[in-house]
Amino acid sequence: MNIHHIAVVGAGIMGNGIAQVCALAGIEVSLIDISEEALEKGLATITGNLERQLRKDSISLSDKLAALGRITLSTHYASMNQANFVIEAASENLELKKRILQQIDVAVGDHCIIATNTSSLSITELAATVSHPEQFIGLHFFNPVPVMSLIEVIRGLQTSEATHKAALALSDMIGKSSVTVRNRPGFVVNRILCPMINEAIFVLQENLASAKEIDMGMQLGCNHPIGPLALADLVGLDTLLAALRSLHEGFDDPKYRPAQLLKEMVAAGNLGRKSGRGFFNYDD
Ligand code: NAD
Repeated sequence: MNIHHIAVVGAGIMGNGIAQVCALAGIEVSLIDISEEALEKGLATITGNLERQLRKDSISLSDKLAALGRITLSTHYASMNQANFVIEAASENLELKKRILQQIDVAVGDHCIIATNTSSLSITELAATVSHPEQFIGLHFFNPVPVMSLIEVIRGLQTSEATHKAALALSDMIGKSSVTVRNRPGFVVNRILCPMINEAIFVLQENLASAKEIDMGMQLGCNHPIGPLALADLVGLDTLLAALRSLHEGFDDPKYRPAQLLKEMVAAGNLGRKSGRGFFNYDD
């Protein structure tokens, strides 16, 4: 399959990163969001990232300009009608994703592959909302997408081998490494990572140490490049809470229950870097 035009739905933290790596790999990209503001912010992030790569000499000026020239922004799903691969990267909410997938299904042609970047929701259940569930797959990118080299590829019960191969080919095209895993809540990486971050929030909630000390402990004591609370802020506390809820409900196991402090921070609108405040402040 020749993947020539990708539509990315959702221009937030993940969507703009996915659009950037696809455009740099020579693929036409339609970046779609319901919010004009999110699209403008997404494009500004992509432009800033490409400028940083240019300063580091990892891309040339013509690479930067060509990549930007391949990205078109839209608030209309109809703009994806030329795409032969769609990646859904909107907010982590099952009902919202089902509605978005139905809209995508109407907008694209019969042979289009539809992927979701969900962190934790069932690929099999999401696949059931589209007309060709065999052409549906999970492509779980990591944050920040231009930096992190892994894609977790998740096959739903209905995913065909041709769709799986096309997903692996896309991963190669954009210079990522992939692991294929089975469909279970949180897949593999988040099943391990989210409970660890949640435990750090329980530790903070119990006042055992400050946020800074907890992160320093895990960085210097376990050689983690970033502390769990700073990582939570990077991921987005709403997204982390949604992922923990999927794990909790999906396995019906209390070990995944989200910390009360996490729920309160999300209720307060302290979502981490994207809102300027989380476990740490990002006022600048
Ligand atoms: P985000 O909050 O930064 O962005 C979500 C975007 O979706 C927003 O711009 C919003 O306007 C848009 N959106 C909402 N409803 C929409 C609709 N109906 N149509 C089009 N766009 C719509 O979230 P994010 O962190 O980019 O997460 C997106 C997805 O990626 C989620 O499924 C999340 O679980 C997954 N994910 C996130 C991370 C992470 O570290 N943040 C990592 C891997 C996967």
